[in-house]
Amino acid sequence: MNILILGGGGREHALAWAVMQNPKCDKLIVAPGNAGIAKIATCASFDIENSADVIAFAESEAMDFVIIGPEAPLAAGVSDDLREAGFLVFGPSKAAAQLEASKAFTKEICVAANAPTAGYGHFTDAASAKAYITAQGAPIVVKADGLAAGKGVVVAMELQDALNAVDDMFGGAFGGAGAEVVIEEFMEGEEASFFVLCDGENVLPIGTAQDHKRVGEGDTGPNTGGMGAYSPAPVLTDDIATQALEQIVKPCVAEMARRGTPYQGVLYAGLMIKDGAPRLVEYNARFGDPECQVLMMRLGGQILDLLLASAEARLDNAQVNWANDHAMTVVMAANGYPGAYEKGTVIKGLNAIDDDNFNVVFHAGTAKRDGAIVATGGRVLNVTARGATLAEAHKRVYEMVGSVDWPDGFYRNDIGWRAL
Ligand code: ATP
Repeated sequence: MNILILGGGGREHALAWAVMQNPKCDKLIVAPGNAGIAKIATCASFDIENSADVIAFAESEAMDFVIIGPEAPLAAGVSDDLREAGFLVFGPSKAAAQLEASKAFTKEICVAANAPTAGYGHFTDAASAKAYITAQGAPIVVKADGLAAGKGVVVAMELQDALNAVDDMFGGAFGGAGAEVVIEEFMEGEEASFFVLCDGENVLPIGTAQDHKRVGEGDTGPNTGGMGAYSPAPVLTDDIATQALEQIVKPCVAEMARRGTPYQGVLYAGLMIKDGAPRLVEYNARFGDPECQVLMMRLGGQILDLLLASAEARLDNAQVNWANDHAMTVVMAANGYPGAYEKGTVIKGLNAIDDDNFNVVFHAGTAKRDGAIVATGGRVLNVTARGATLAEAHKRVYEMVGSVDWPDGFYRNDIGWRAL
């Protein structure tokens, strides 16, 4: 089978690494890919958010299956256009990806599905939003409705911060994403991520994870795309996972089907867990990055069978073969990230690391220049290890991090602190 993966981050390196291990994969192309992906697959360059370009490439290379990694091509409707052109695709339709692209839409679905989540109000003007906030009091959470790369959420501990956030959002701080605002009850608890595959009707859990959003140790400093992750998430016990599946995910997926926009692809539920019960914080319509890296490390080659079962609507007959293992990813980022950082700095020491089924350095923002690996992004390497226990994965991963020779990069030394 000829497979095309769209994307070029650590998530797509991990997907490529796992898909390659399945004997069904004859040929693998990743667009745009990166220097790490280039070691295991062919990389191609075209506009992955332009359906015509994607279809032309997939036709010219006789691709059988297209896996969409990031949210931007989903929001652009690339999956719909590929399906219309006759390709087998992993990734939700544009209409179904609204579960990530619009927070007000997700809230509406939760209400219709009776799924536990924070109480909320949805506003299209500042005056009514502020009146609602004043009536509710702080702490309270203000969210731009649309996609704002994780920056459109203000968790306000003081009333004035919430009122200011409303002015910022309606003032255009997030462009079109802030033209509508969702105001939510502040939820306390511990956050964890729950991943399921959907085929429009059936739902199959494929693992849990926890990530570290803040740049600094002890979960301090500004938010990032994620500085590390581990799987499974101990806080998401079997009982809580069952509640999340039966009370949140399945009813929402059923509601999407009832509305004529069935959800097919991976659904990533961000949960807040308190007193033994989960509530939904948000849905994402794609794998998390770096959560995908720890999931792929644990699932290996079977992921291709699972993604195919999702795309071909036969998840009712699919099952996951679990190894009783743990995985951890530590993100190495360029000094200065998430603020301004230098590009083009040289990374050495990667060849000394044994890439095998237990230790892998997934590349996020890298390129090869004059034979050297150089950093091209903020988050650059995702050093990942698997072990019988989380402590073992942790030990291995930090040994690998220690062999990377990159004075222009940094990492957090405390990934996994909650679980360890
Ligand atoms: P990202 O892309 O970073 O996941 P996002 O823009 O999709 O973020 P959310 O996931 O909805 O936004 O919110 C970001 C973070 O804000 C959450 O991970 C959580 O820590 C916090 N948060 C969101 N909603 C609430 C809430 N109702 N109560 C408490 N904290 C919240």
